Amino acid sequence: MESVSGHAQRLTTVTLHLAHMTANLRLLQAQAPGAALWPVIKANAYGHGALPVARHLAGLGYRKVCVADVSEAAALAESGLGLATVILSPPLPEHAAALVTLGCEPVICTEDMANALNAAADKAGRRVPVHIAVDTGMGRVGMRPADTPAFFAACEALPGLAVVGIMSHFASADEADKTVAEAQLGRFQALTAAIGRRPGLQYHMANSAGMLELPGAAFDAVRPGIAMYGLPPSADIANPAAAALRPALEWTTPIVYLKEVPAGTGLSYGHDYHTPAPALIATVPVGYGDGLHRNLSGRMEMIVQGVRCPQVGRITMDLSLLDVTALRGLVHLGDEAVIIGQRGGAAQCADDLAATLGTINYEIVTAITQRVTRRIAT
Ligand SMILES: *Cc1c(COP(=O)(O)O)cnc(C)c1O
Repeated sequence: MESVSGHAQRLTTVTLHLAHMTANLRLLQAQAPGAALWPVIKANAYGHGALPVARHLAGLGYRKVCVADVSEAAALAESGLGLATVILSPPLPEHAAALVTLGCEPVICTEDMANALNAAADKAGRRVPVHIAVDTGMGRVGMRPADTPAFFAACEALPGLAVVGIMSHFASADEADKTVAEAQLGRFQALTAAIGRRPGLQYHMANSAGMLELPGAAFDAVRPGIAMYGLPPSADIANPAAAALRPALEWTTPIVYLKEVPAGTGLSYGHDYHTPAPALIATVPVGYGDGLHRNLSGRMEMIVQGVRCPQVGRITMDLSLLDVTALRGLVHLGDEAVIIGQRGGAAQCADDLAATLGTINYEIVTAITQRVTRRIAT
């Protein structure tokens, strides 16, 4: 692990079940048998911890991963794992030198960026591998499909560039209605026909939902993120294989304080909550500074000894309170409270918290901040 000392770490901990991740990757690869699989580990591997995840992927033999930007690629380069990095977000010309030095594979869609990379590559005496982004309907980055063949030819003519990929991204492959996704797929297929097969050129489009839901979307390579972590891209995934995905992340925290309080005691900032009866209140060192969203205050539970205990009072930056009255006489300092995970018959998953907040599981796990200790399950 990254931390040098087991006794100087934050007590709230993300535990990574790497074996689950391995199984999820096998399941995903089976959906796209012929395609290269480039795991997406942007945003600190969706909050799981980019370095431990990257190390695991390298150990499994993966050679290329996707990250958001050059800063994430730089952090990965320092790990010495030697993984190639596709940079998914568009860089600016000021990033060109760093991208070339780090050996990144940026996704580009402007002439300015192509020229800047070409100049930086020339200066370094290298060729920079690039992927061309095409907007088939996401309405975010990417050039119009109709402009792509000419841009491809222009990039091919630059001696410092090697076009190794042409890519697109689905806007709604996770939705039950596949009309938009199928239209995007059709546009991308037409583009592959227009440009054709070239040595060293790979077409790629599918995220997790595209892999699971759209046969024919795999092309030469796939870019799964959320499903590799064992979380469903949405509640509308129809592929039965998705039921076998297993979450790779557990989030727990120990109880650091216990106190009996009388009825009518106001708890935490603003005294939003008053105990209706005498209560045993536990303090746990997890708060919005760890990514536990403050809007979950009073609307979630944590699992202690297999029992769901209500979180009470406002979630603060570093600490939260649990009503553990049901465990009076059984609960002790140091006992584990589970924020995301399963104990006995009780489970709470990222999707439960997301539903309460009106968001998606992606945001729940990605929000878990750097200061939370990451450890590998043994
Ligand atoms: C984040 C991202 C992915 C992965 O998406 P998931 O839904 O997590 O599988 C793939 N491609 C691009 C361009 C992305 O930005």
